[in-house]
Amino acid sequence: MFCRNCGKEVSDKAEICINCGVKPLNGNKYCQNCGSEVNSNAELCLKCGVRLSGVITSSNIRYAGFWLRFVSFIIDGLILMIPVAIINAIFSDAGWFFGWIAY
Ligand SMILES: [Zn+2]
Ligand SMILES: [Zn+2]
Repeated sequence: MFCRNCGKEVSDKAEICINCGVKPLNGNKYCQNCGSEVNSNAELCLKCGVRLSGVITSSNIRYAGFWLRFVSFIIDGLILMIPVAIINAIFSDAGWFFGWIAY
């Protein structure tokens, strides 16, 4: 495999990279499978298609997952509000609704 911090080839059993001195899977700059440079936020390598491993990357994914769920929760709420607003406009005084749309 390749060191994810410096991109040098290291042994699959290596606990530490002999080139830069960090754990080979602790970096986020290179693919551990092909050694090519990757985006530090990338989940997959664009060159060889493997899932990029590493402590730092996996915690970032969990963090992003939380915000993704949060945003989709907000969007779901907005989508539910639109038909409710339309029904309100039809069954009650429609003037306020179309006045609001015009603004
Ligand atoms: Zn290294
Ligand atoms: Zn790769």
